[in-house]
Amino acid sequence: MLPFKLVYHERYDLNLGPHVFPSQKFRLIYEMLLHEGIATQKDFLCPNPASDEDILRVHTVNWMHKLKTGTLTASEVMLLEVPYSKELVEAVWLAAGGTILAGQSAVRDGFGANLSGGFHHAYPGHGEGFCAIHDVAVAIRKLQADGAVKKAIVVDTDVHHGNGTAAIFRNDSMVFTISIHQENNYPAHKPPSSIDLNMPDRADDDEYLGVLIPAVHRALDEFQPDILFYVGGADPYCEDQLGGLSLTKAGLKQRDRQVFEEARRRKIPVATTLAGGYARRVEDTIRIHLNTILAAQEVAESYPQRSSMGV
Ligand SMILES: [Zn+2]
Repeated sequence: MLPFKLVYHERYDLNLGPHVFPSQKFRLIYEMLLHEGIATQKDFLCPNPASDEDILRVHTVNWMHKLKTGTLTASEVMLLEVPYSKELVEAVWLAAGGTILAGQSAVRDGFGANLSGGFHHAYPGHGEGFCAIHDVAVAIRKLQADGAVKKAIVVDTDVHHGNGTAAIFRNDSMVFTISIHQENNYPAHKPPSSIDLNMPDRADDDEYLGVLIPAVHRALDEFQPDILFYVGGADPYCEDQLGGLSLTKAGLKQRDRQVFEEARRRKIPVATTLAGGYARRVEDTIRIHLNTILAAQEVAESYPQRSSMGV
């Protein structure tokens, strides 16, 4: 049994059909965790969809209404880059509920993992780049509203810049944002995060970790957050179709492990989300996401103290 909870819902699938985003990955990760004996049914929590009140702490009434009623304009669908469907809307509401639940679990157990989420390109009033609802921002606002946390940090390791996150929290002194990404990649417009680590094309494991870990170390020391939300993209992988960095699977696991260790040493709870992953072989994407769970398990077992926020 894992020392923390995994959050999963069978309707996480974004219903995209043939698409570069392998939306069946959510189910495949769930099945693989069980198949390999990493987790049992008892390790899973099933989320409710986020409430409209939760969504509206981040998003505009207008955007929420358009998503719910299927009244996006053609240009809004184009910007979203995924086909609109009722199932997509249901999935992103569940993803936001799942990231809330992972955050609540992290506060209680030290770690919590949503097997979806990390939709970091969503803005308050529109969606972009496969992201309709910014689940991490919704979760941060919800935990703050409930008094569970005051200060949060977002560590975003997806190969693409976390533009939605940066825009949402730009003037918020209670949320610190770090994005490490390939500079010459989507999105073209990158509003400033608290720290942006712009990596050159084909940066490898050593170069990447040599930049990321000291930045996380310093930010945690200086900002002293009550929770860390991890956007654990699988797309810095060397064989990713939408990425141009050269990390290996072992390097990506090191990345996860070292970020989690930095948090755990300081008793900062960690909530993880998946974000992107477009490896030529979908099994590589699945493996990289599974390794994030294994890294969390290893760190939780190496540093067995409960979080400072827990009982
Ligand atoms: Zn990405």
